[in-house]
Formats: sequence, structure tokens, C-alpha cells
Amino acid sequence: MERKGNLIYPDWLTCLAIPELSEMQLGQFNCNNLRTHLAITFDPEKLLVAGQRRSKVLAIDIGGTAIKAYEVRTEDGKIECVLKNKEDKVDVGDNYYKFLKNFPKKDWDHIAISVAGKVIDGELIESENFRGFVEDLRQNGGFKYIYGEVFVVNDAVAAAIGGYSLASSRFPEIENGILMINGGGIGGAVVNNDGEVIANEPGHIPVVDSLLNPNSVTKKCNFYDQEETCLERIGSMREIEAQWEVLYHQKKTGQEIAELMYVGDNRALRLIDLAAFITATAFEGLRQANNININNLVIIGQGGAFKIKGFGERVRQILLNHYCKMYHFDEKAYSTKLLPVFIPGDGGIDNFGAVGAALGAIAQSA
Ligand SMILES: [Zn+2]
Repeated sequence: MERKGNLIYPDWLTCLAIPELSEMQLGQFNCNNLRTHLAITFDPEKLLVAGQRRSKVLAIDIGGTAIKAYEVRTEDGKIECVLKNKEDKVDVGDNYYKFLKNFPKKDWDHIAISVAGKVIDGELIESENFRGFVEDLRQNGGFKYIYGEVFVVNDAVAAAIGGYSLASSRFPEIENGILMINGGGIGGAVVNNDGEVIANEPGHIPVVDSLLNPNSVTKKCNFYDQEETCLERIGSMREIEAQWEVLYHQKKTGQEIAELMYVGDNRALRLIDLAAFITATAFEGLRQANNININNLVIIGQGGAFKIKGFGERVRQILLNHYCKMYHFDEKAYSTKLLPVFIPGDGGIDNFGAVGAALGAIAQSA
């Protein structure tokens, strides 16, 4: 049960019957179509030391729908991350460059940037999300021109580093993490004790089982000119909002749909459960293709979907059910310790990417 104000809501999602993952769908995943590659190797020891130091970092999260500035403070392994400013994206990121310019660099020990695009040698090379901003930046000499010394990292990599560092302090026994992002899109990465972040694209795996597409979505993937409808086109929170609009002829944000679910709206419950089912499928396909052991593995959730009450637990429930059948586990014996979930809000941190970028900036300067 979840208490909210004076009302108590049932955890609707985890009360539903648990669906079986589709073997036909899982058979679609391999390292080739997941575009699996080593994104970065970091030194986990250095990050640990970075968290011990006393630092004040400006961490900017440049995302597909908004740009956010955080103050990240570290000392003695305690990490605080406070939102200082936020603007929603205008057109193709037309307001992003000005947003950056408005932060005086002298107030900070370090400046870190997590950005939803391709990063090479500390500069943003391209992004589907905000072409206007990429162009503004290029014409003005890049991040280095604004800030001088700055640590720039891809947003999924930053979230993997930050989420894994924070999850490791909560669950010291873990060896691997799988970061799942569900918000504007569906993304995923593997991160491990050796400090490797292995990038993957689970969102763009074609959907071949109609069980995953109850509303018969036909939108094309369009990633690398792929024609088929992919997992992201059905199960990302952005597309859940789109399906709500098609089905019920009104615009609602993911947050509004979640609010309806809390008060017992079945239509909202079904759509959010669909997002959880697709996220669980993406997780398991990615895990199998990357050959990650389920022991000492943590699910790190990021993005709007994981901020919905019960969502992370629902993803875990679907996966545990799958493993119990696959490996003949006794569900009761394993369910308490296997596959912990670490989601936004855990440890008082909402944005793992901001923390990951900030730790990276401190570690790099050491
Ligand atoms: Zn796609």
C-alpha cells in the first residue's frame, strides 16, 4: 500500500496477474541489433574517492525535453543533488545555449555536463533531440568556450555511472548493474565492477509478438532507417501518452496518466503495465545478449516511468517470475534478495545522470 496525503492507494500494478515474457520476442535480441559496444571505462576506486572529497559541482543535464542545472555537493561519501534551474525545450533546443551562458563558472569547483547525444573528446557531436542547440554550440566554439575546463559525457553513460555508484553503496554485494531508461525513449546499458559501461540500444528491437502491441501501434522506428515498429514506439512513456491520446481523444502527460492509475482508472493501469512489460522484456533481452549473470545484479531505473509508484517493482516482479520458471527457483527463497531495484528518489537522489557526470568531473581532475 502507498500512502499519499491522507489517502491510501493499493499498489495496483503489482496486484495484476504476472505476464510471461515472450520467448519469440526475446529471440530478437543480439549484440548486433542492440549495437552493443564499450562506451567508457572508468575507475570505480577514483569515483569512490571523488565522493569522499568536498566539492561543489554544477551538473547540467541536457535532455530531450528539458535542460536542468543541479548543484551536486560531495563530502565524506555523502552526495547531495539539488535542482537549481530548469527550462523546457523550445523548438529544436533554441533556448539551451542561452541557459548554459547564464551560469557563472566561477561559483563552482567543477562543471559537468550530461547530454542526450553523441559525445567525442568532450564535445557534443550530434543529437536527434536538439539540432538547433548542436549548431549554436558549434558556431560558438563548444562547451569549452563557455566553461573552460568541463567534463562532458553522454546522458546514458552518466546515468549508468551515477546510478551504479549510488546503488553500490546501498547494495555492496552487487557486481553488475543494468540501467534501464524509460521516458522519452527506452535505453539501456550494462555497468560492472570493472568500471565498464557497455552501451546498448534495446529500445529499437523490432516487435514481433503482438502480445507486446495490444493497441496495434504501427509507428515506424526510424532509428538508422529501421522500418519496423520497435519496443520504444510502444512502451516508452512518450508513446504511452500518444496511445492515450489515440484511444481516449485527450492529451495527458505520463504523470497525469499515473495519477489516474493511483485512483483506480483501469485504462491508465493497462497502459502503464504495458510500459512495465516492455521494459522488463527489454531488460531481459539485453541481459541475455550481454550474458550477464542474474546473481548480484541490480536493476537501475531512470526516467519518468520509474518515478511512477510501483513501476520498478512491477518490472522486477515480471523478471523474477521469468527466472523462477527458467531456472526452477523457489520463488519464496529468492524473491527477497534477488535483483534489487534502484530507482530515482532512492538515497534522496532524483537524477543519476547529474551525479554520474559530477563524480566523473571530480575524478578526472584528481
Ligand atoms: Zn526505434
